Amino acid sequence: MRLPIYMDCHATTPVDPRVLEAMLPYFREHFGNPASRTHSFGWAAEAAVDAARAQAAALLGAEGREIVFTSGATESNALAIRGTAEAHRDRGDHIVTTAIEHKAVLDCRRWLESAGFRVTVVPVRPDGLVDVDRLAAALVPGTILVSVMAANNEIGTLQPLAEIGALARARDIVFHTDAAQAVGKIPLDVDALQLDLVSFSAHKLYGPKGVGALYVRRRERRVRLVPQTVGGGQERGLRSGTLDVPAIVGLGMACAVAQQEMDAEAPRLARLRDRLLAGIQAELDGVRVNGSLEHRLPGNLNLSFAGVQGESLLMSMNDIAVSPGAACDSANAEPSHVARAIGVPEDLARSSLRFGLGRFNTEEEIDYAVRKVVDSVRRLRRESPLYAGAAQRPKEAP
Ligand SMILES: *Cc1c(COP(=O)(O)O)cnc(C)c1O
Repeated sequence: MRLPIYMDCHATTPVDPRVLEAMLPYFREHFGNPASRTHSFGWAAEAAVDAARAQAAALLGAEGREIVFTSGATESNALAIRGTAEAHRDRGDHIVTTAIEHKAVLDCRRWLESAGFRVTVVPVRPDGLVDVDRLAAALVPGTILVSVMAANNEIGTLQPLAEIGALARARDIVFHTDAAQAVGKIPLDVDALQLDLVSFSAHKLYGPKGVGALYVRRRERRVRLVPQTVGGGQERGLRSGTLDVPAIVGLGMACAVAQQEMDAEAPRLARLRDRLLAGIQAELDGVRVNGSLEHRLPGNLNLSFAGVQGESLLMSMNDIAVSPGAACDSANAEPSHVARAIGVPEDLARSSLRFGLGRFNTEEEIDYAVRKVVDSVRRLRRESPLYAGAAQRPKEAP
């Protein structure tokens, strides 16, 4: 086992060696611009982009012509949300989203409001799932877009997309999901879920950074979008700019590998996650799981440890790469908007860790992490005046 151990796969994932291998020729011999129509360098690049488009589409049950390549999920979200708002202004001015969206979506809200749109932010339940009845009640005449993330990047909760898709479709409202954490991790079929727009990113699924895609529905109904980047007219005019061919090839391969391995990988990660949780809970009390365990990404675990400071805990585990679970960052330790939305008490939000397990984690690494967490929490609790109850708790006895 090599140290340090990476368990922060919601922040980014390592590039799969198969993905890197697929990319390399497109830096070297096949360096052409896919927009060059007059020679074989261009044709080879174009063929590679088409193949990647088909691989990305296949993972979502879509068609290649419905995939628009972007620089990542942040850009895809902006194109989806701002692009839909601008294109549907004639039909309404109201957008519905949830309280636990990624910053990439929440920040669009400011733009929307300054551009004269109304935004309703639907709360989530304490388990981190959106309340579908409240979401349905928020849909009014004039609602043009519903944007609900597929899987949360802090607590890993999975939203009931099929139910929301049915609500949106029945009212002819465009349905967008930020699926940066979900694509390649759980099955996501655009037709079964009645999705119109899906944002995702290569670097969250073992591909390179700086490339992603937006699925834009063109079958059954065509979703109209106003482009947010104009120029050369690439990507059907929806996203101008010379395509990053090696990155797109990497995204395609990452999708193909995920499609092939998801059925085996998801249960394996869920077993590792459950082993991590069981190992910690067997030796510590005062451990709280943030967010539903049942409706959750297989590789996510978000825990609060009563009586310890998250920052101290992170520092004492310096050979395991994890993130603060529900604090904005380890320095200021303000509870995150997700922690507030699901009602994590402030002290517990400050004492939380987010584990993001991925393709390359092993059982041995999980066992090491259990030991490290248990030892660190015990030591910090012994030193902490906050955890006066520790002495009476049998599990805490040495
Ligand atoms: C990582 C992430 C993003 C941003 O994706 P980038 O490709 O890094 O821009 C957006 N939404 C969610 C849910 C994410 O996890």
